[in-house]
Amino acid sequence: MVSVSIRGGLVLLAVAALVSGCAGPAGTGVRPQQPLNAPPAPAADLQADKTRIRAARLRAEQTRISAARRWGLKKVPLTAPPAPAVKPRITTRHGFEVDGHREKGLPPVFTTVPTEQKIVFLTIDDGAEKDPAFLRMMSELKIPYTAFLSDYLVKDDYGYFARMRDRGVVLNNHTLHHPYLPALSYARQQREICGMQDVIEKRFGARPTLFRPPYGNYNEDTLRAARSCGIKYAPLWNEEVFVDHWEYREWDQDIHPGDIVLSHFRGRKDWKGTMPDMVRRFLNRITAEGYAVARLEDYL
Ligand SMILES: [Zn+2]
Repeated sequence: MVSVSIRGGLVLLAVAALVSGCAGPAGTGVRPQQPLNAPPAPAADLQADKTRIRAARLRAEQTRISAARRWGLKKVPLTAPPAPAVKPRITTRHGFEVDGHREKGLPPVFTTVPTEQKIVFLTIDDGAEKDPAFLRMMSELKIPYTAFLSDYLVKDDYGYFARMRDRGVVLNNHTLHHPYLPALSYARQQREICGMQDVIEKRFGARPTLFRPPYGNYNEDTLRAARSCGIKYAPLWNEEVFVDHWEYREWDQDIHPGDIVLSHFRGRKDWKGTMPDMVRRFLNRITAEGYAVARLEDYL
């Protein structure tokens, strides 16, 4: 019994090592993991694999250092831990519930993901500014983020957001016209939310499971309507980053493990700088405080 469980443990460790090796940037030449029932590889092969993995990691690290320098960051952003094997249980933040929220099985409304790790999640809303430099910056720095799109702002250039999707960003629902939803009937709220589900599915090929109500305002009808068109989660935010300052929900005016950070697709027309300027402010701050950016969808 004991030897079996020890062997099982060793196999798990070996798999974990391979998986984390593969979790590096794509195209690093890391070999795909062997099936568990394959015959053991000769020692020389294993040594060669280890050398290759080490070289790939070194190359990836050098790429990240030069990207950080090129984009004017004070420090190289920290790398987030691998996606959790067991996802945290997401519940509605206290004080953010509607009547019978949990009993009715409505999508949870939350501002932070429960975790002890020093990670935050970046979410970017609306879609007015379509800055190609922003796409390049996020890809080169390998910073994950989640977009919440409103159709009236993105429809003049779906191609920009298709390129974002091609880079691994999940495109989520922020209504068709960005209204103040609690003022609308159930039927009109449903048109705003389900209509945007249809647009995203048609243009980008996948139906979102995340929805963020405009201005963070919602009522029970909002969450019922969202659920009726396939929404599972309604993430809000705990901090907002602008090009020249931060705003906080908490009294301590600080960032915390698992916080969801909001920003917007905005450019010089809306604020005093570019999207890369905003990202610089965001990354310089969180890196200095020891935080990495993780992918929200990995935790849901
Ligand atoms: Zn918005």
